[in-house]
Amino acid sequence: MENSFRKKLLSGVKRIVIKIGSCVLAPHRDGLPERGLDMEAIGSLVRYIVELRRQGYEIILVSSGSILAGMMKLGLKEKPADLPLKQAVAAVGQMGLMGAYEKLFGEYGQQVGQVLLTWDDLENRHRYLNARHTIFKLLYYRVIPIINENDTVAVEEIKFGDNDNLSALVTRLVEADILIILSHVEGLYDEDPGHNKDAGLISDVERITPNIKQLVSSSQGKFSAGGMATKLAAAAFATALGIPAIVANGRREGILARIMAGDEVGTLFRPLPERIGRHKLWISQALRPRGEIVVDQGAKKALVASGRSLLPSGICGVGGKFDIGDAVSCLGPQGEEFARGLVNYDTREVEKIIGRKTRKIYWVINPMMK
Ligand code: GLU
Repeated sequence: MENSFRKKLLSGVKRIVIKIGSCVLAPHRDGLPERGLDMEAIGSLVRYIVELRRQGYEIILVSSGSILAGMMKLGLKEKPADLPLKQAVAAVGQMGLMGAYEKLFGEYGQQVGQVLLTWDDLENRHRYLNARHTIFKLLYYRVIPIINENDTVAVEEIKFGDNDNLSALVTRLVEADILIILSHVEGLYDEDPGHNKDAGLISDVERITPNIKQLVSSSQGKFSAGGMATKLAAAAFATALGIPAIVANGRREGILARIMAGDEVGTLFRPLPERIGRHKLWISQALRPRGEIVVDQGAKKALVASGRSLLPSGICGVGGKFDIGDAVSCLGPQGEEFARGLVNYDTREVEKIIGRKTRKIYWVINPMMK
């Protein structure tokens, strides 16, 4: 069914980031892929993506699947927990993944280019601009960039962690007009559809409120790093930039055509009318926290309500190793992360001023994101 709000929203869209999850690329039964990459399903998506290209849209793909494809090739049944093996599996799988895309897009004469990123590439201004220039050059030559995390070198410190987060950061990097996240679920439900078959799909989310966040668990798939919680965080990032996001089932035939026609499929997250400052967004999503500051309930309340600087009197503890100007996580009394900020002091200095009355720690918070 066509939805006039969606149609209007989509009418100005030119550049689209499409994130394709591992479960879209291979059918699963009982959490295990039944066979390797599903060329038929990928072929169908490719056909619709080419169609969108021909209609004049610019497409940037963020595709998972390197670990899944590598596991299939190496005959592994479980995702390796061991980091070097996971990286080796990704090295094998990324080839198969790109081989599949190159073959299928090639059938339509559509060129594709591989871009592998780590967090460092987007955190460092110089590398950020390099990545951006490369992607824009690919678009200029009508090539579809296919982005994945560089899993083969990504150790804990430089990892995005999941491709939902990566796709949100790419949306900003390339200044896209919409983020489409394709998964094996229909979208956001009002209850867990795994436990309640009467759970209803929410087709329109005006704002990601704490109530909306409560609807999702942080459970992950067997091959993917993310779940609905990471999709929600990605949507929160995009919508705060004024960019709509849609989460939909990528295994439904013709889903992309339906989304772009304004059909009421999946869940639409509306762009926020008031944009959160880019600086705050950047701190909350793109910078890696180098440590934690634990605050008491009163300080938490004050930070969330006013977004002001943090006073040392509200600090109960400090962890990690950070320098002046680094991003840190702000934890509440139960250890829950509720904000991130930049510090004016290094770890040792903060340890010294804990509980003191006078000095202030510069704190830029974005409670909405966390
Ligand atoms: N980069 C991982 C892969 O290609 C997937 C990460 C994710 O599932 O979000 O397998």
